[in-house]
Amino acid sequence: MDKHDNLIGGAWVGADTYGENRNPSNWDEVIGLYAHGSSADAERAVEAARAAAPGWAAATPQARHDLLEAVGRKLAERSQEIGRLLSREEGKTLAEGIGETMRAAQVFKFFAGEALRVTGDMLASVRPDIDVEVTREPVGVVGLITPWNFPIAIPAWKTAPALAYGNCVVLKPADLTPACAHVIARLLDECGCPPGVFNLVMGRGSVVGETIVTHPGVDALSFTGSVGTGSHIAEVCGRLKRKCQLEMGGKNPMVVLNDADLDVAVSACLNGTFFSTGQRCTASSRLIVEDGIHDAFVERLVAGMRALRVGDALAPETQIGPVVDGKQLDSNLAYVDLAGKEGAEVIGGERLELATNGFFQAPALFLGTDNSMRINREEIFGPCGSIIKVGDFDEALAVANDTEFGLSAGICTTNLKSAREFKRRSQAGMVMVNLPTAGVDFHVPFGGRKSSSYGPREQGRYAAEFYTTVKTAYVFAG
Ligand code: NDP
Repeated sequence: MDKHDNLIGGAWVGADTYGENRNPSNWDEVIGLYAHGSSADAERAVEAARAAAPGWAAATPQARHDLLEAVGRKLAERSQEIGRLLSREEGKTLAEGIGETMRAAQVFKFFAGEALRVTGDMLASVRPDIDVEVTREPVGVVGLITPWNFPIAIPAWKTAPALAYGNCVVLKPADLTPACAHVIARLLDECGCPPGVFNLVMGRGSVVGETIVTHPGVDALSFTGSVGTGSHIAEVCGRLKRKCQLEMGGKNPMVVLNDADLDVAVSACLNGTFFSTGQRCTASSRLIVEDGIHDAFVERLVAGMRALRVGDALAPETQIGPVVDGKQLDSNLAYVDLAGKEGAEVIGGERLELATNGFFQAPALFLGTDNSMRINREEIFGPCGSIIKVGDFDEALAVANDTEFGLSAGICTTNLKSAREFKRRSQAGMVMVNLPTAGVDFHVPFGGRKSSSYGPREQGRYAAEFYTTVKTAYVFAG
């Protein structure tokens, strides 16, 4: 079985222990062995990044562009093979795996362009004969900690802007899904990334992650994952006066008004709630439906949900792949059980025994729920959605905003006034009209409000807010 090493200071470094990366469609299949880095490995990676930082900060925009462009091109050229690997390690369908790989390619290419477009401001001072210049500089060494649910897109959308703006990187991917991050490391290495500019340390969050978070050589931290780990990182960063960016959970509402186009609403909710097995922080988990359309909508949604084909991620007919692992499946099943105990009518949600030893679950819909139930307050992160019936637009909006989260929110309506009101009064960072709450562009900001996000937005040109620091210079020419 192939062993996959960490990339530290430009060298591929072995580890004392390796973790088995298994396929959630068939847990008997080991995809590969991936290094379990130690705390000392993480320290060496930070030191290598520090040593490389002055050189990379001084590299020309052309050099940064060329590296990112080359990686983006290779990702696109090899999207079939990498997408297949992604589906095997995470459980997304093959189409989703290839799509996510293409997204990573687009992100690298976008930031290749941004490397050439780092701008500043030149102003006249309020005092005579003085010029004021505002420029952007790299932050230095950035630690990137990523989750399992987008194993190539999230490492890409943190790594590419970090490098584009002249920072050096230490990346720790989720222990469950190290293979795609390893591919990014290999491509950066193949494309001539200077030693120490990008470092990969795979392993446990409590060991490698914690060392990166607390290491004095790290200038900024970007994290995506659970609210619990994110809150811990925010506290450490606050104590150490370190810049941080956190993307955490969601409990995203999708409002369906009486005047919605039923086809559009059902399709947006099937996609937003169940695709990618519901394992998206932007998934629609609360479907808030006006009473006049409720029965027709639920009937169509249940029929659509029951028709979804759950199966092996690589099978061409599969629409919903497995849950990522046994722990997440147990958690999902416990929420299905809780839904019944809280008084919801539960449709689907049972564990499915298929031909292979995988973590398959039927999509679940919880009917007759209200927004105070735990199933509507806590992030489930599985193929589960709740229906909350409301009397009118104002009630729908109030329920949509009544959550500790604020990542994405959607509305299905053919009424321009309602769409406009919702867009303005939603307390989410991203608003969708007649579109699923999940599914975003790569060239515009991504992120939320309240407990969903902390710090500057990711992606698009807004990424510069996190990955650069501003300097204001005053010049008196005499
Ligand atoms: P975590 O927050 O535990 O993991 C995210 C990343 O943080 C992983 O790389 C993890 O490492 C790392 N990590 C864990 N502990 C620390 C630490 N002390 N210091 C630094 N890094 C650390 O989330 P889980 O993967 O366990 O998922 C749990 C729940 O989180 C899900 O059920 C879901 O509700 C939510 N989630 C939300 C996501 C989102 O996009 N909003 C994405 C993923 C999960 P390790 O590899 O060891 O896990």
